[in-house]
Amino acid sequence: MTELDIVSRLRKYSNKIGDDCAVLSLPGSRDDLLLTMDLMVENVHWVPGDSPRQIGKKAVIRSLSDIAAMGGDPRYCLISLALPKSATRQWIDNYYQGAVAVLRRYGAELVGGDLSRSDTLTCDVMICGTIPRGKALKRGGARPGDRIYVSGPLGAAASRGYSVQNLPEPRIALGRKLRGKATACMDISDGLSIDLHRLCLESRCAASLDGAIPIARGATLEHALHGGEDYELLFTLPPSLHLRIADIHQIGIMQQGTPGAITMDGKPLKPAGHDHFRNK
Ligand SMILES: [Mg+2]
Repeated sequence: MTELDIVSRLRKYSNKIGDDCAVLSLPGSRDDLLLTMDLMVENVHWVPGDSPRQIGKKAVIRSLSDIAAMGGDPRYCLISLALPKSATRQWIDNYYQGAVAVLRRYGAELVGGDLSRSDTLTCDVMICGTIPRGKALKRGGARPGDRIYVSGPLGAAASRGYSVQNLPEPRIALGRKLRGKATACMDISDGLSIDLHRLCLESRCAASLDGAIPIARGATLEHALHGGEDYELLFTLPPSLHLRIADIHQIGIMQQGTPGAITMDGKPLKPAGHDHFRNK
């Protein structure tokens, strides 16, 4: 079982499932709503003793990055926490301070949530964003010939062992610039190889990586290809469009072929990023 298997089973319930956010149109509104949730669990996403302020920041960065991937503006946030008896008032205060500091920086507001008891510290973040109607960037619009780009060096989190220190910034400003331009877009949360595979499946294309993959300082090519938690944007542009944006890197080209198939320098590249559910 893989995450993709589970998600494809869920898609029978709604055609809005499958992108970084659900895109919802409201009658009469000039904007569409973007909804995303991210769940974090102690000992899966952080270890006991990590800074609660950093955990709070990371919890909202994950969802903000999904809003960025759609080209949206973050607006409102709900946070639910399930706390063990050992959780202190100080831990909770620091957690929310970290989360709210990041939300404010990107123009979003904490407006509610829920609290529960649990043996395992768990937090769930929901962010609502907006985007002008019909402008959301999705995964399924890339066409053969489109150029593939990433927004920055990859592999930093994997090279550091995924700590909650040195968190990336969500690419909200870049997402906005890509509105009306990118043919497909998503954020790299689980690793370039698996996330590009997902983008290719949705766009019913293959991909060839023939450009230099930008590698973060201290990371290896393996980290950059298969490491998660980079939160850079992965997007495609038509070949005629050359955006004057600093720090974007062309890494390949979309091609006709088996949907989801990726080659690198002519050899098949297996999608091998992070998947919570893959049988080891
Ligand atoms: Mg995402």
